[in-house]
Amino acid sequence: MQRRGSALTPLVTRTPTQQLPELIARGVYWCTVCQQELPLDRFIRDHKRDSPRSRCRSCSGMLTRANKFNISFADLDRLFTAQGNRCALCPAAPEYIDGLNLDHDHACCPDRGTSCGRCIRGLLCWSCNAGVVTWYERLRGTIPPYPLLDAYLDDPPAARFGLTDLTPQT
Ligand SMILES: [Zn+2]
Ligand SMILES: [Zn+2]
Ligand SMILES: [Zn+2]
Repeated sequence: MQRRGSALTPLVTRTPTQQLPELIARGVYWCTVCQQELPLDRFIRDHKRDSPRSRCRSCSGMLTRANKFNISFADLDRLFTAQGNRCALCPAAPEYIDGLNLDHDHACCPDRGTSCGRCIRGLLCWSCNAGVVTWYERLRGTIPPYPLLDAYLDDPPAARFGLTDLTPQT
């Protein structure tokens, strides 16, 4: 049921429509992006069509984020897999990728929630992203160094796995 490490392709393959009521009756639905049955509550309801949407919440979230951060959907999934499907800093491992935030270097792209794509650092849980990393970046150099955080900032997962070149935007 749960996605583990398989490469996602944003190809849409429709389930034959006649199967959908049968899926709903079993409390599941088919995501056309990650190509698997998931519990119905993983889908946002499309009220116009009076049926669940064809993409699960996680894939919808991934696609939106990939667009905003100028990273391909496949690369975002690669990053998630490369990090062992967990936060790059702590053991937090949400069941789905939409439980993690995409962290980028605000010195390069100051706006929240968007990036040029080259300053993406990694996927972090909410508290590491909004709390630990933000705090450390502000005080870095004025407090004793934290090797774990220095390693993350100096050699972030996205760069290590070749997803970004970390070249500042010109
Ligand atoms: Zn999906
Ligand atoms: Zn974390
Ligand atoms: Zn940037």
